[in-house]
Formats: sequence, structure tokens, C-alpha cells
Amino acid sequence: MAGEIEIKEIYENGMKILEDLTNNAHELQEQMLEEILRRNAGTEYLSRFFPSGQADKLNFKTNVPIVTYEDTKPYIDRIANGETSSILFADPIIQFIRSSGTSGGQQKLIPITAESFEKGKYHLFLVDIVTKKCFSGPDEGKSLSLYFSKPEIETPSGIVASPYLTFYSKTDIFQSNLAKFCTSPIETILCLDNKQSMFCQLLTGLLQRDEVVQLSSIFASVLARATKFLEDYWRELCCNIRTGYLSDWIIDPGCKNAMSLILTGPNPELADLIQQICEDKSWEGVIKKLWPKIKYISSICTGSMSQYISLLEFYGGGIPLVSPSYVSSEACFGINLQPLSKPFDVSYTFLPNTAYFEFLPVNKDGGGKAQETRTMDKPVDLANVKLGQFYEVVVTTLAGLYRYRVGDVLKVTGFYNKSPQFQFLERQNVVLSIDTEKTTEEDLSKAITNAKLILEPFGIMLTAYSSYSDTSSIPGRYVLFWELKMKGSNDLPKLDAKIMEECCCIVEESFGFTYKALRKGGAISALELRVVKHGSFDELMDFYISKGASITQYKPPCCLKSEDAIKILNSAMVGKFFSPKTMFLSALSEG
Ligand code: AMP
Repeated sequence: MAGEIEIKEIYENGMKILEDLTNNAHELQEQMLEEILRRNAGTEYLSRFFPSGQADKLNFKTNVPIVTYEDTKPYIDRIANGETSSILFADPIIQFIRSSGTSGGQQKLIPITAESFEKGKYHLFLVDIVTKKCFSGPDEGKSLSLYFSKPEIETPSGIVASPYLTFYSKTDIFQSNLAKFCTSPIETILCLDNKQSMFCQLLTGLLQRDEVVQLSSIFASVLARATKFLEDYWRELCCNIRTGYLSDWIIDPGCKNAMSLILTGPNPELADLIQQICEDKSWEGVIKKLWPKIKYISSICTGSMSQYISLLEFYGGGIPLVSPSYVSSEACFGINLQPLSKPFDVSYTFLPNTAYFEFLPVNKDGGGKAQETRTMDKPVDLANVKLGQFYEVVVTTLAGLYRYRVGDVLKVTGFYNKSPQFQFLERQNVVLSIDTEKTTEEDLSKAITNAKLILEPFGIMLTAYSSYSDTSSIPGRYVLFWELKMKGSNDLPKLDAKIMEECCCIVEESFGFTYKALRKGGAISALELRVVKHGSFDELMDFYISKGASITQYKPPCCLKSEDAIKILNSAMVGKFFSPKTMFLSALSEG
């Protein structure tokens, strides 16, 4: 089979391919832009920027505007409504990829072509090679990969739109080659009911526990959800294993069929073993106990996903947590070439063959705090980024995105051969804001990381957080939602008001100068911390999924904009605390 030979070749030559790509990064980027212009300069979208017909790099840089999704949307909508995709790009469209939209707020439709898919696929293989090389030979054992599907929708013109993973799981390359390394039968991945899918995937993972060498998902939020699911369903999973009968609420025909081939008879010994592990008072290291041959957990845990690091480290009990790549529905950006680096130190090496990248300098003060994005500044090429500088990534693809702002802010941390390496900092557009104060995702994450330290000696874990700017009263305030649990159990911790208030203070103290000045001047009220019960953020995720988000691409919103989402967390509130003004003021005067 052609696919197999191709994969074999990539696996055999993977490291050499990487060396070639990174050594020739500058030339490959130039070639990429030339190729995009050669093919697409005649499209309705691009041709108006080349009135003299000369579609070269200089004219591209001078004439083609830097845009956001909103600017491209009219063209995408026209294609979705029946006009030919050649108004935007030359190659035939295969379908649209629906981006999750939970961080940025809106669902986007991103066109995909055969070639843009090829490039993404290549990227995924290289990620796999680098990670596996670090831990073992590629063919050893299986991966418990928690992948989920969403229903495909059709645009008025009949073009299919689905999240990337739903599309990918249906491709021949996945089904005939990669799926055999996964414990989850393809039918369980394609099942559209996420709960039945999760149950069956965990069940097959437990039944094949001795083969599992890797636990993975695209984003860490899915693994956090899986551990909660395991807490809720381990008894039922054990019962299925003990009796050999699948729970009768699993009614999806694909799941039932696939499970009948795996759950073939009673296995009381295995059920006893799993029960014994799950009955343990503390679930510290439970992943390692359930899957004793596991070598690593692979899941994106940088950016907004970093809030799950401590949870996964706790359940993993020392298993390395690998954040393998930086990808999006728009393009594949980079690979983590040092899978063993600690989650907070991860950098992604950009690969120059997936798209043409430009980088808009972002102004940051010394502490890394965002002040302003200077979009008047000219973007620089991949060849010209500077060590230590902050940039927003701008992408140009073969599939119709031209100088498109992805909205992510990155910091250059080094170079691998000629390719820059970036740390993911934050999504540009996720901020808390009152008055002139703007707090970014990264500011919030840092402040909360500082504050939660004081909970650790009490055995309390912060398992998820979100926030919103409450401007319903004047002056407004920032409200944080924290889901807390005890380390050894799911019990709600006893909340000591003094300690919780101190958490509020530390968060406020960690914010920037503008926040403190406005707070001191009375333009911002005391920060409020609302503690919600265990499982509330799962409900929030369900809410977003019901609104169309994909479970696999879901990113917990660091900052809530939806009234309904705020209502969900408010209804799960078990305690609220405010920053005591006096403490804050004394901290300010000390500072
Ligand atoms: P989507 O729009 O659903 O395709 O998700 C793409 C977005 O997810 C990116 O633009 C980033 O904001 C985020 N993302 C992807 N990879 C990473 C990563 N390695 N670290 C942090 N955030 C990421």
C-alpha cells in the first residue's frame, strides 16, 4: 500500500528530514511563498493587490494587507454558499475545518486542500518520530489516544465542515496505518456520542493495559476530562470487565460491534486489579498503576492548557508529560524537539515547509507583560526573528489564508539549525479588561500559579480555572472561578477564609502596574474568587460542546464572555472570597 511505504520512508529518514528542513529553513520559506504566489496570485482575492500583474515577494509584502479571520470571512462565506473556491485559492477544496473557537470566541471555517492536508500529515509523523525516538522504538506497544468526533455539517453549497480530528480519523492514512497503534477501535473514535465514546475508549484501554506505552490526546483538557470520567465510571468499567458484558447504555452500533470483538468474556482478575487500584484513597500516580508500561503522556499542555499540568503530574506520578507540537486548524507551526523538557520550558521549532510565516513584533515590558501590539511595525520573516523578542504569528497558506493573524503571541527562545524556536505565550485576544487595564491570558496564568502555591501545603489542588470581568456594578471587578479538590480524593477542601483571601491578594499583587494603580485609585473593586465544586468545569465543557465546540479541540476559556457559561459556574459555587482591601494596600505600599 502506497501510504505504508510513504510512512515507512518518513519513519526511516525522519531525523534526516528534520535536519534538512531546519538547515534550509530560510530557502524553504522563500520557495513556499513563491509557490503560493505562483498558484494563487490570479485569484479574485489576491489579484487586486497585484495591479501590474507582478506577484513577487516585494509586492506581496507591500500590497497584501495583514488580516484577521473577519477579513477573510466574506470569501469563505461565498465559497460556503456556492461560489467556486478558486476566488480564494487555486487548488480544489476538500472540505472546511471547523476550528474550536472556544478561546477566540467564534467558530471559524478554514479551507483544506489535498496539499495542505499532506503538509499537516507530514508534520504529525515528524512529531511522532521525535517523541518516540526519545522514549523507545516506534513499533513498541500501543497508544491510548483519546480522540473524539463531531458531526459533520454541510454548508449551503454542500461542502463538508468538521473539526480536524474528525476529518483526519476518516482518512485512509489514519484508518489503514495509524489506527492499529491505538487501543481505541476506529468505531469508538468515530462515535458521535462523546460519553459512549469515552467509556468504550477507556474500557479498551484498560483491557489492553499491558500494551499501553503512551497516553495521549491533542489538548490536555481532554486528559483532565478523562481522569474525571474514570473517577465517575471506574466501578462500571470494572463491572464490564468482570462480567464480559458491555453496559446497556452503550447503544451506538459501531461501538457495540467493536467492543464485542474486544470484550469477549469475563475477566475477574483484571477487574479485581483495577478495582484495587481505583479504591486506593489517593489517586496519585493512578495512570502509572493502571497502565504499568506507560512511558509518557503526550498532550499539548502549554498556553491555556498549562492549567492542567499539576493535575496530570499528580495522576501521572512522575510519567513525563510531553507537549509535542504547536498546531492549529489554519496551519502546523512547530515541533517540540526536546520532548523531555518540563512543560513550562517547552519551545517549538518551526518547520518551514507547512506555510509561509511572518512575525509581527509585539511590545512587551521587561517582565513579559503585554502592553500593546504594535501592528504598525512591519512583520519580519522567519529568517529575521530575534532571540528574546515577542511576536504574533502571521500565516500565508496554499489554501487561501494570506497574511492572516493567528492571534497567538510567541517568544523566540533559540534556534535549531536555521529554524527559530518559540515558546507559546498566550492568545492575543483573551484578556480581562476594566477601564484601561488589560490582563492577558499569560498574566492571569502567572498570577494564579503564584497564588495556588499557598494551597499546596494544605493538600489542595486547583484543577481548573476561568475568569470574567464583572462590570455589572461600578467600579467593576475581576472574578475568578476556581475548581478545587483535595489531593487524595475528590472531596471539596475545607475552605479557610483567610487562606482564600490571601490567594486573592497574591493574584492582585501579581497583576501589572495599571491594575494596581486603578485598584488603588478605586477604579477597580476587590478581586473576587468563587470556588466551584469538583466537576463544574466538565459541565462548562459540556455546555461549549453542546454549542458546537469539539471535545478534542476544546480549550477551556480563561476568560468567560458568555452569560450562560458564567451562570453554569455560578450555580456550582460553594464559596466566595474577596481580596481584603487593607492587605492589598499594604502590599502596594511595600511594593
Ligand atoms: P484550533 O483553532 O481549534 O485549531 O486551535 C488552534 C489554537 O490552539 C492555536 O492558535 C493556539 O492558540 C492553541 N494551541 C495550539 N497548539 C498549542 C500549543 N502547543 N500550546 C498552546 N496553545 C496551542
